[in-house]
Amino acid sequence: MPIQNQTCHELLKKACDNKLQPEEIAEQLTERILQSHKSIKAFVRVGDTPCVKLTQDNTNSLLKGIPIAIKDNICTKDALTECCSNILKGFLPPYDATVISKLKSAGAAIMSIKTNMDEFAFGSSTENSCFGPSHNPWDLQRVPGGSSGGSAAAVASGQAIMALGSDTGGSIRQPASFCGVVGFKPTYGRVSRYGLIAFASSLDQIGPITRDVQDAALIMNIISGHDPMDATSVEHPVTDYTKSLISDVKGLRIALPKEYFHSQGIDTEVENTVHIAIKKLKELGAKFQEVSLPHTKYAIPVYYIVATAEASSNLSRFDGVQYGLRPDQEKRQSIIEMFMRARGQGFGEEAKRRIMLGTFALSHGYYDAYYLRALKVRTLIKNDFDKIFKDFDCILTPTSPTPAFKIGEKSQDPLKMYLSDVYTISANLAGIPGISVPCGFTQQGLPVGLQILAKPFAEEIIFRAAYTYEQSAEWHLQKPNTFAIS
Ligand code: GLN
Repeated sequence: MPIQNQTCHELLKKACDNKLQPEEIAEQLTERILQSHKSIKAFVRVGDTPCVKLTQDNTNSLLKGIPIAIKDNICTKDALTECCSNILKGFLPPYDATVISKLKSAGAAIMSIKTNMDEFAFGSSTENSCFGPSHNPWDLQRVPGGSSGGSAAAVASGQAIMALGSDTGGSIRQPASFCGVVGFKPTYGRVSRYGLIAFASSLDQIGPITRDVQDAALIMNIISGHDPMDATSVEHPVTDYTKSLISDVKGLRIALPKEYFHSQGIDTEVENTVHIAIKKLKELGAKFQEVSLPHTKYAIPVYYIVATAEASSNLSRFDGVQYGLRPDQEKRQSIIEMFMRARGQGFGEEAKRRIMLGTFALSHGYYDAYYLRALKVRTLIKNDFDKIFKDFDCILTPTSPTPAFKIGEKSQDPLKMYLSDVYTISANLAGIPGISVPCGFTQQGLPVGLQILAKPFAEEIIFRAAYTYEQSAEWHLQKPNTFAIS
């Protein structure tokens, strides 16, 4: 089987038996990227540098030099990290994000080209990138989801074995669902955010996008844990997540929130596909009950106030002085004019929209009416989850109300675009972990994802439920036709 069709744990087995060298993997992946880049555009700056550079001897390490693709908002020392934004063009971080140092110590080869994303992770389709959109490997006319669409498309199309993404409101789980791969968002504080270029600091988390649940557990074992460099990372013991990969859900109490099903805007094929998955888990011994998360309807408005408020503050550091773009100096230009030119030319439309919205919500006279009120409702949303987790082990929902949509279908209507995260955003507001696993296809052959959520730091339960489902259904073994592109 070609290397690019295999999972990390399968490749590791071969590497341990000395049947595979890291050079071979790097070579085959590079070939694959050069073949499919034109049609999928999962990576940025292909051709500028080698795709995978093997810089150390990883023979005795855990990951044996297996490459991992990194989203363009995670700092990698001396490798361009531009958030797919003109304002950060040419930014070479002088340090590695903590997740990158951890992966390097475990023997991963960090790919030197980055995966495409919506500028500063603002979006649900990867159309807001200064490098242009990525394409969904299952249907090239469609988006791969976002904002980690490049990472998901790379893994789905065999251009990466596994990848890292970031999830502020669904940006790992939604693209994983659109591309038929596994996407995991850890509990807030489980994985260090040091070196992740901040979008909304109280919501952002880094997590893996992989071909199967076992690989997600493997990566989580490496990147989890407290980091003194990130004050929001939590000192909570890290268990070996691969020990949770047991095929058994007997007696597991699973809640089905009614707000996530018969709701407006849900595609009937998505709903039916998820119901078939529920039936399967029932046959395997899980116990289901319908519940209510009554504040769900406020999740999108609350998120777009909190996230834009934090983004407007985080993005204020990009002013043309310290980082990236510095437009040509004009004679007698004041410093304010210089800031305005850098920000005006550097940020794309969606970034500007969010900076304005966030600045407005935080401004004097509106703070109490919008930002403070949003924080209060955020607590109500979290309380809804706390209440459910008193009686249930996990919650099951569709990951997204629709399968992948067409490129351009929603890009002119921000509100429509914002609604595509209606099922993922609440988990970020509540800080809880979640996964998206493939659970079938629509008649048009588009992947559908199943979302499993659990209480904070109950990653093990998610892995157990997701693994059991995955092993019984085997949707993760399906590959898009674009695998055959030559
Ligand atoms: N789509 C959401 C947004 O545009 C979430 C993005 C994310 O998780 N980074 O804000």
